[in-house]
Amino acid sequence: MRCTECGWPLSEGETISTHRTSEGQVSYLRCPCGAIAVRLRQPPPSTPVIDVVVGRGLTAG
Ligand SMILES: [Zn+2]
Repeated sequence: MRCTECGWPLSEGETISTHRTSEGQVSYLRCPCGAIAVRLRQPPPSTPVIDVVVGRGLTAG
């Protein structure tokens, strides 16, 4: 998935923090443009990865 703000591939972004939850592994990513994205890695057979771009100007954690 790419950043909705600038189109940068979020896989290239900086991982701010990672948390393990009952829903799976949640990672916060920061795009070079300043947008924050939340990535949820769910265990099989669920959808493996869900990325949500929260937007700029927000702080994670
Ligand atoms: Zn961006």
